[in-house]
Amino acid sequence: MLILIPFAVGCPTKVKPEGNQEARICPRCHNAAMFSAKSRTWFELCFVPLIPMNSKHVWMCGICQLQVNVQPGWEPQIAQPGYQHPQLQAQYGPPQNVGYQPSYVQPRK
Ligand SMILES: [Zn+2]
Repeated sequence: MLILIPFAVGCPTKVKPEGNQEARICPRCHNAAMFSAKSRTWFELCFVPLIPMNSKHVWMCGICQLQVNVQPGWEPQIAQPGYQHPQLQAQYGPPQNVGYQPSYVQPRK
């Protein structure tokens, strides 16, 4: 008699932060949420990782999930203290190149 055991096999990729966890600026979403990580593919049986397959070092963005292979000669810019997303700066920062325009003054005709 044949007994069928349902089991699931997969090779998911797991990303684990590693090394210096300085916040870096993501080239795609411009948030200071990039960190260096190790991306490793596992052979998985019934959702239990059994055998590590291959691994590589990547830069990973925690917000937009962008992954960039670590390559010599390029690394994301380090976020300086007080770094703000450029869009947030534009939205909440002081207005630039805007004259004083009180909205309650009606133009005279
Ligand atoms: Zn991003």
